[in-house]
Amino acid sequence: MKIAFIGLGNMGGGMAANLAKAGHEVRAFDLSEEALVRAVEAGCSRAASAAEAVTGAEAVVTMLPAGKHVAAVYQDAVFPHADDGTLLLDCSTIDVATARSNIEAAANAGLVAVDAPVSGGIAAANAGTLTFMVGGSDAGFARAEPILAKMGKAVIHAGDAGAGQAAKICNNMLLGASMVATCETLALAQKLGLDPQKFFDIASVSSGQCWSLTSYAPLPGVGPVTPADNDYKGGFAAALMLKDLRLAMEAAASVDADVPMGSKARELYEAFVEADKDGRDFSAIIQTLQG
Ligand code: NAD
Repeated sequence: MKIAFIGLGNMGGGMAANLAKAGHEVRAFDLSEEALVRAVEAGCSRAASAAEAVTGAEAVVTMLPAGKHVAAVYQDAVFPHADDGTLLLDCSTIDVATARSNIEAAANAGLVAVDAPVSGGIAAANAGTLTFMVGGSDAGFARAEPILAKMGKAVIHAGDAGAGQAAKICNNMLLGASMVATCETLALAQKLGLDPQKFFDIASVSSGQCWSLTSYAPLPGVGPVTPADNDYKGGFAAALMLKDLRLAMEAAASVDADVPMGSKARELYEAFVEADKDGRDFSAIIQTLQG
């Protein structure tokens, strides 16, 4: 299949490579020359512009920083140049309102669009083991699923337009709040004189068990190997967690939802990102809570 891929950054680079590896003809475009060179090395063909990538493509994948970038690429390059019925898959994490309006605008332009944000970081993008949560029509999902399956280990239809983004930010709000709770709990356990590994062993098989503790322990040398064991490098940058928490707060306000824990997590990550100049993993917030 001829697939245009726009946005070949940390995530998109690996995803486009996996589509090429699966035998698709991937026409890649990014504003960054370096990203384009890497995509060509990974088996994609180089497009001179987003419009050129889209022309004659059967599907268009976007993996861009935020809603405004996706809306601009759709308006300027995709809508004017895509053939009727082309499938658009936006895998970026963007706000629910823009995702919905993009999908509606695509339908008005005679195209079929889904929002398909991902869970999993750069390693999962490279390995083709992302989880996709998809919003859109049944027909759109049926067409998107086999393409997304080449880049992920799970592809789930979350509901109508925007439901993928809603699922993504709800999941990440839970993750942000549970990471803060895990960090302050470990810090307290240490101050109370508990050996952190002993506490990990106990909580991992008790009612406090959660993913942030057992799969992503924020202390070096405790539990499985995590970014904490690598000086909090790699993993999921705190700035990206903050981005998702801000999107969650925006979405919560739009439906008048009360989210005190998510709101506190957003406040704590705002302060952490402001002070941290190293772009560290989001679990490094434990150092603030250790005092
Ligand atoms: P990135 O900044 O590494 O990549 C974005 C790419 O888009 C860059 O290469 C940039 O040059 C390109 N770009 C921007 N505007 C463009 C335009 N108009 N035309 C063409 N290319 C353009 O970001 P990333 O880490 O790959 O993240 C991409 C998306 O995935 C974001 O929405 C992010 O929130 C989401 N996400 C990231 C992670 C992660 O761990 N990095 C995990 C899950 C979801």
